[in-house]
Amino acid sequence: MLNHAPVAPVPAAPPGPVAAACHVAALAYELAPARDCDGCVLDREVASLAVEGLLHAPLPARLGGTGLGMDSATAPAMRDVLRIIGGGSLSLGRLYEGHVNAVRLVTRFGTAAQLQLLANEAAAGRLSAVWNAQTGLGVTLADRRLAGSKIYTSGTGMVRRPLLTAGTPQGVLMLLADVQAARNDLSSWTPLGMRASLTGSVDFTGIAVGDAEIVGEAGDYYCSPHFAGGAWRVLAVQLGSIERLVSLYRSQMVDRNRTEDPVQRARFGEAVAALETARLWTAGAAAIAEDARRPGDEIDAFVNLARHGFERAALDVIERVQRGIGLSTMLRPNPIERIVRDLATYLRQPFPDAALDSAAIWALAERPMHRDIGE
Ligand SMILES: Cc1cc2nc3c(=O)[nH]c(=O)nc-3n(C[C@H](O)[C@H](O)[C@H](O)COP(=O)(O)OP(=O)(O)OC[C@H]3O[C@@H](n4cnc5c(N)ncnc54)[C@H](O)[C@@H]3O)c2cc1C
Repeated sequence: MLNHAPVAPVPAAPPGPVAAACHVAALAYELAPARDCDGCVLDREVASLAVEGLLHAPLPARLGGTGLGMDSATAPAMRDVLRIIGGGSLSLGRLYEGHVNAVRLVTRFGTAAQLQLLANEAAAGRLSAVWNAQTGLGVTLADRRLAGSKIYTSGTGMVRRPLLTAGTPQGVLMLLADVQAARNDLSSWTPLGMRASLTGSVDFTGIAVGDAEIVGEAGDYYCSPHFAGGAWRVLAVQLGSIERLVSLYRSQMVDRNRTEDPVQRARFGEAVAALETARLWTAGAAAIAEDARRPGDEIDAFVNLARHGFERAALDVIERVQRGIGLSTMLRPNPIERIVRDLATYLRQPFPDAALDSAAIWALAERPMHRDIGE
């Protein structure tokens, strides 16, 4: 029997972080061609992250956030947010991922007062970051003063309170220092892609660090599985750009009437399959890394394998797109040209050989070859 009772209107879902990320990504994608220059500052994009609540989102509720991406329940939404922002702009995705990583590390190892410092930065519309890469001795801390430099510091000049690592006689410490007085240098950031990520170098020599700015204990930064496991968030950002590339590949195939050719279709199919490989690795790595019941060595190994499998899939997509559409993918202003440069640059992540090797050592031990990932 038909039910003629009036249907109650379904209340509109509150705009969640995924919808917020879509707004930010749309703006970032629109601005991306103009942002493709050395030293470009993504000010409107970061302002949009602030307006949409995404700077605060990873922080706890008492500080105006929702704890997004801080536990297994919210990891899938964070994965989507990072993917969507990465699909808008990989440089913006890199900056936002650094911010999330800083909040995550301070949430895990820091104090309530230190989280408040990050909330203050977010309230001022500023991102944080994690600055660890260095050459030689890098940065050291002695008598509560910093000496030395970091390299590859994304957000150079924009970020005022990064989480940076410093060597001490006790081991590597994390510091949430105010680096306004540091000497920024963007002159060496002359990359193929990711130009707007402001990944310069910073000399911190002479900057004072208070006890309240020391996060956790010596050695916390590299502790397993948080260090290797967190790499899934980088994959999520990069995944967004691979989705964008395959979408552009499809539309440019259609525009050129090349979809009737079986060889072209097979190549496109390979790109779609590689995209799916990248998506599955990202989802699997996120699910395993955020599952607190998993042993740390399994998380480290799986995420390291994911990095390897994902990179191969990303490079396969780049090759298929370039061969399928041809030379015009290498000519501006075709967006494929820019996105391939950005992705190829961002795919360079630390010690890939060692990551695969340690995963292989783990897998060589006698253990079941089947693993349920779950989500
Ligand atoms: C866009 C972008 C933004 C970034 N932003 C930040 C940031 O904000 N903060 C930050 O800390 N870092 C940042 N980085 C740096 C990043 O974390 C890595 O440090 C960097 O990408 C490493 O690049 P690489 O190719 O030189 O790595 P390497 O680790 O030097 O790898 C190069 C090759 O050498 C091999 N290799 C490495 N070490 C050895 C060894 N000892 N012996 C033999 N072979 C070796 C590797 O396996 C690989 O094949 C950023 C990087 C990019 C691309």
